[in-house]
Amino acid sequence: MKLNMDKDRYYLEIALKEAEQALKENTYPIGAVIVDESDNLIAKGRNRVHPNQDATAHAEIDAIRNAGQAILNAKVKREKFTIYTTLEPCPMCTGGILFANIKKVVWLLNDDLGFGGYRKIKAANVFEERFDEVDIIEEPFEDLKKRQVELMGKWAINPNNVVHLRKALNK
Ligand SMILES: [Zn+2]
Repeated sequence: MKLNMDKDRYYLEIALKEAEQALKENTYPIGAVIVDESDNLIAKGRNRVHPNQDATAHAEIDAIRNAGQAILNAKVKREKFTIYTTLEPCPMCTGGILFANIKKVVWLLNDDLGFGGYRKIKAANVFEERFDEVDIIEEPFEDLKKRQVELMGKWAINPNNVVHLRKALNK
């Protein structure tokens, strides 16, 4: 098995590729990857809110859906899955991660400006037993974090960003 840091970096880079692809599809640049205990890549996901016209099509939910039966099998066999995502999960995805029984969450960039929910919900001391079972690693790599910050900057000026869609409406 690779060293944990190398492993985290490897999968976060795959998640970043998904985020880049999402931006090319003119939607939120967020990607996610699910990995099992033996370092097998179980599923990839990316934001599909704009292409699918689905407000719930976030990267983490997409990855969980793509993982399909593996999620339920892991639950039955008590295997510990990890999800890597490029941005701190929102409240919906935080719930999805708990429902999918994922045991470790690694994200590249904390989301204090947007809808970052994981740390807030955990700090609220609700569902404590569930949150206690999940390890988190926030912002482990400065250079990869910077790449996500850059993607968010590009998204801010994308015509599909709701700010610009509203402006276009008011013209
Ligand atoms: Zn989300």
